[in-house]
Amino acid sequence: MPVLDTAALLHWPMDRLVGGLVAHSQLAELQRLSPQRAMLIESIDMQWLSPSTQDAQAAAAATGDLPRLSQVDLDVLAIAMSSGQTLFTDDYSLQNVCRSLSHPFESVSNRKSTQQWAWELRCIGCRATKQADSQTEEECDICGSPMKVKRARR
Ligand SMILES: [Zn+2]
Repeated sequence: MPVLDTAALLHWPMDRLVGGLVAHSQLAELQRLSPQRAMLIESIDMQWLSPSTQDAQAAAAATGDLPRLSQVDLDVLAIAMSSGQTLFTDDYSLQNVCRSLSHPFESVSNRKSTQQWAWELRCIGCRATKQADSQTEEECDICGSPMKVKRARR
């Protein structure tokens, strides 16, 4: 059974959603985004879970994606990790964490990122780059300009 992120809950036909693994926190998110859709989803048979997110947080911290993930994202990731089932998501950070774990994932639409990336700091002045150990932006050692966090291909 697939693990479904909220984009799938919003866009997939109902018959494709039946039996899927979802987090309780997604229902609240869905009620905010589309109350009608939330009502439909509640009427079909799905597996609603409230996972412990400790391992998911550790995995996301290891790739530097943790600051980009919401609590709902972490719940969905935790369900995927604990069930071992394929995660359907278009979120690049979730895909990145899955790739680092060799966990199977698919896109909800047809956009699947093909490469692992890391986060790096890039100076807006002299364009110098360095590895981002944290997600905090800092000043360039060379020219003193601000450095911004960017996605870097590995
Ligand atoms: Zn610089």
